[in-house]
Amino acid sequence: MVQESLSDVWNLLKHTVDPVKPLSIFYWDGAWQIWPIAILLVIGVIGYLVSANRNERISLKGAARYIFPAEAYWSRSAWMDYQGFFLTSLFDPLIKVATVVFGADAFSAFLASGFGERTPPDAPGWAIVAVQFLVFFVAADFGAFFTHYLEHKIPFLWSFHRVHHSAEVLNPVTTYRKHPVELIYFGIMTGTVIAIALGSTLYLTDSSLTAGTLALMTVWVAVALGVNYLDHSQMWISYGGAERLFISPAMHQIHHSAFIQHRDKNMGLLLSIWDRMFGTYCPAKGTEEVLLGISEDTLGASNPHRTVVRYYLEPFGEAYRCLFPARPEPVRRNILPKVEAPPNA
Ligand SMILES: [Zn+2]
Ligand SMILES: [Zn+2]
Repeated sequence: MVQESLSDVWNLLKHTVDPVKPLSIFYWDGAWQIWPIAILLVIGVIGYLVSANRNERISLKGAARYIFPAEAYWSRSAWMDYQGFFLTSLFDPLIKVATVVFGADAFSAFLASGFGERTPPDAPGWAIVAVQFLVFFVAADFGAFFTHYLEHKIPFLWSFHRVHHSAEVLNPVTTYRKHPVELIYFGIMTGTVIAIALGSTLYLTDSSLTAGTLALMTVWVAVALGVNYLDHSQMWISYGGAERLFISPAMHQIHHSAFIQHRDKNMGLLLSIWDRMFGTYCPAKGTEEVLLGISEDTLGASNPHRTVVRYYLEPFGEAYRCLFPARPEPVRRNILPKVEAPPNA
């Protein structure tokens, strides 16, 4: 029995990091979701134990209530997240993977056609894997940050990204609350940054993406997704001083806050260094309260995305208005000044 379950775990591990079809993790097939959920549960239990009141009895029920508060999973806002989940979770990774894998190869070939072929470096295989993965890690994190930064700064992109911010409660499924148009441009923009960085590395090291790198990328996806689930779990987890390096779940809740002082803060994925460089860093320490939503005056009945249909359609109107703002009505003035009647007429 134990042996059987051990071999099940082993098979799952092999499936997750199988170098032959390493990108299988990008595709929804249920099994690989176990890793991000496991990360959520483990960190959730640690968070519960750390934050539990000393007088309170530690119980499984208490932990469940801490990790899965009913109001975050059972509300109008959460219900909309569930409805959008399948489309987004299927569609989202495909664009990113296609852009990265094909783009990196194409960019490397482009450099080779312009600057000539390189000779392979005299380096061990593991060093090539390490360099490729490190470049991928930094480029993926920066690409995600920079695209997200532009979404908050360019009104046209914000029209679509606002859908993610109109959630009034957070739960892991909110990770997938994305407008389909956002999925397309986000995948292409982030994928292009990664493809250029990785393509240059492939060219300089005269190598192609190794199975080892693809396997590490696969693990990275599971970890990044697990962190995303935590970020949207409503558990207030701060990393203290380590927030100068990493984005904590509490910092991402600040990102979702409707309060004006929190707007456009903490746009990073895993690393917070980009936020510090771009002046958008806001650590969890010192934040007393957050209110989730786009802004204070677009909550409840004023939320522009009260139904899934509205959350899919409304952004198109918003985006159109950004591209073609309505001209103000011309002010009409009388050409001839009004003649005042004499006071005793
Ligand atoms: Zn955002
Ligand atoms: Zn979010």
